[in-house]
Order: sequence, then structure tokens, then C-alpha cells
Amino acid sequence: MAVAFSEDAQRRVTAHGRLQATLPMACRVCEQRSDVPVSSDVQVAIVANEDDGADLPRDLEPLVVQDDRLDVMAWVEDELILAAPVAPACVRAACQPSVQPEPDRTEAGGKRAFAGLKRMMDDADGGDESSGRGE
Ligand SMILES: [Zn+2]
Repeated sequence: MAVAFSEDAQRRVTAHGRLQATLPMACRVCEQRSDVPVSSDVQVAIVANEDDGADLPRDLEPLVVQDDRLDVMAWVEDELILAAPVAPACVRAACQPSVQPEPDRTEAGGKRAFAGLKRMMDDADGGDESSGRGE
């Protein structure tokens, strides 16, 4: 993690650099915890309120700090959470869905049952004409 704080010509305190961390996240496939590398490039100016933030040049994001105190860890955490993938997949070779789809063992029987059903329907079908219901 390398973030430099400095004061610019307008006496704004700015922070820029790259935040990097490894976050333990649950894999979306196997639901095992997996260490996901996350990085976020930041370029912010520390401001006292949203109004001050509105005056910033476009390349600076406002970082609103209340009571002149910056909770660096909370900020870093927020940035990294925003940068983290929403549904990561792990890279382990054994990554498998935790719920296996049921193997289809009934295919042959199912087909036969379906054919039987079709024949029954054909037999029951006395004719395509409607029985005169409604006009
Ligand atoms: Zn996985």
C-alpha cells in the first residue's frame, strides 16, 4: 500500500497512490474462502464537507472528513471494498459447485414413459372437433 499525502497550492490536503490488499472472500462457485487480491488507485482531496468537494478539479475525488479527523483505516477499507469483485471465483483446481446437479439416470425410462403417455393421449383423442361447447 503506497499512498502519499501532500498539500497542494490551494492548501488542500490530497492523497494519491495505490491501495492494495488481499481480501478473504467467498468464492461464488464453491463457496470456499479464497484470498482475492484487490487494488485501487486513489486520488482524493480531503475536504470538510460536500460543498468544498464540489470545487475540486475533476481528477480529484472528494474525501469528506468530519471533525478534521481522517479515519485512514476505514477509508482504505471502503476503497478496497468498492474495488473488490462482487462475485469472485477462486482459482483452485478443485473449484466445484457445492451443490452437484443430480445425474440424469432416468433418461431411458423417461422417454418410454413419455411415449406411453403420447399413445394414451392419441387414444383418448376422439377427434379434433370441439364438442360443441360455446359458439
Ligand atoms: Zn471456488
